[in-house]
Amino acid sequence: MSTTSNQLENLANASEWMLLALEQAERALSTGEAPIGCVLLRADGSLLSAGFNTMVATGNLVAHAEINAFASAAGRTAEGEALIMVSSLEPCVMCTGAAMQAGVVTIVYALKAPADSGTSRVKPPESPDSTLPKVIGNVKADASRKLFTDWIERHAGDDSRKAQRRFIDQLLTLTATVPIAPRVAVTDLPYATRLANP
Ligand SMILES: [Zn+2]
Repeated sequence: MSTTSNQLENLANASEWMLLALEQAERALSTGEAPIGCVLLRADGSLLSAGFNTMVATGNLVAHAEINAFASAAGRTAEGEALIMVSSLEPCVMCTGAAMQAGVVTIVYALKAPADSGTSRVKPPESPDSTLPKVIGNVKADASRKLFTDWIERHAGDDSRKAQRRFIDQLLTLTATVPIAPRVAVTDLPYATRLANP
């Protein structure tokens, strides 16, 4: 199978999977959280777990959607099982690192997070068996971005959410032009070239 047909197959699946992550992001929005959702899938594409941001509700500053999804998957994966992580926002450094730690082979995200960009700031360990997730970005980016504009409308005049507002304002400014076409990029990660061409 050629690389191109693999990519097309991945992209078709990725759009389906992203709908599930966006559903989680909508749940976050409806509970007053930043609208970020994540689903973890097994290699065959079946749903393993889901999560959304609960930083406001829990006061836990690391209760990101991805971390919640990993917590929810605890004890339900086989040793060395390959996973797919689908996030409505490009994962941060912590969540990209968690994905590598947890055996994620493919990261799919919707909206790029230019200021945080975990997928370009995290490099993998250099141990021989380290693997590097393939990164597929910009999958339904506009639908994800819309949820952030919804958040701004919903919380207009709410001074209790200053930190969230600063984060979302910056994100919306930096993503004012959202690419329409998904991007398959192993090159998001620093060592990708080395891995792609061993
Ligand atoms: Zn995160």
